Amino acid sequence: MAQSSKIAVLAALGLLGTAPAPAAPPTGASRNIRAACGAREGWSDPAPPAHIHGRSWYVGTCGITVVLIKTSAGLILIDSGPAEAAPQVLANVRALGFDPRRIRWILSTHEHFDHAGGIATLQRATGAKLATGPHAAGALRSGRPYPDDPQAERLQAYLMAPARVGRVLGDGGSLTLGDTTVTAHATPTHSPGSTSWTWTSCESGQCLTIAYADSLSTISSDGYRFRDHPERVAAARAGMRSVERLDCDILLTPHPSSSDLLERLSGQRPLAAPRQCVAYAAGASKDLAERLAAEQTGK
Ligand SMILES: [Zn+2]
Repeated sequence: MAQSSKIAVLAALGLLGTAPAPAAPPTGASRNIRAACGAREGWSDPAPPAHIHGRSWYVGTCGITVVLIKTSAGLILIDSGPAEAAPQVLANVRALGFDPRRIRWILSTHEHFDHAGGIATLQRATGAKLATGPHAAGALRSGRPYPDDPQAERLQAYLMAPARVGRVLGDGGSLTLGDTTVTAHATPTHSPGSTSWTWTSCESGQCLTIAYADSLSTISSDGYRFRDHPERVAAARAGMRSVERLDCDILLTPHPSSSDLLERLSGQRPLAAPRQCVAYAAGASKDLAERLAAEQTGK
């Protein structure tokens, strides 16, 4: 018997001893998700999974962020992407070597179909429970937008499959799974139910705070004017102030393009940097001011 086939037989019999467990994160992650996506940035354009930091990975598409966190007691997923992308999210989780049935909790940034439309499908596939902010809970249960969402009219064309809400977390509430705690921050800028999430991530002896800050764009259906809804403007500004104050070593955003996330995951820009959340909120504040000024002048 040749040496190589002898090793194969011994290995098959389990007589070579246990191989050392891999120390590194799972190997299925892409080192250059930016190149893998190229010019594709559609919400359902398939992307490979990518490592973020520590035990957190990007498992979304080229145009929509979905985050996976490994804890000592199973997996947490934040957002689902649109319904059509659910199979890709599951495939990305598997590509990293994880069993999707180990997803215990799904968290949600905001109650719109491009980020939450796949939650019902993923719940069926994994048995995971859903935790969400109080204002988003009703919209995710019904699959219908709130009337007070500036985009409500246009969202009527994109109803979502109803999801089962397992836990409602108010501002500052947290969810602990095994050794990991994720904290909810109400940031009602983009939608009434917008929630941002923070958690501690450690790698090579260094612990950082990852802030998955929700979308901050103040956009609307045709005909909606923010100036007619001072309570919505006040909520939007309060959400920006909350994002500005987040612990935020590594900023993640639901649309990766809002924070050059694919470039940062590919090493083309720093992943962790000071004041990322401050700059993110400042940009949104400027956009809202411009929007209000344009409404004032009727443009
Ligand atoms: Zn949205």
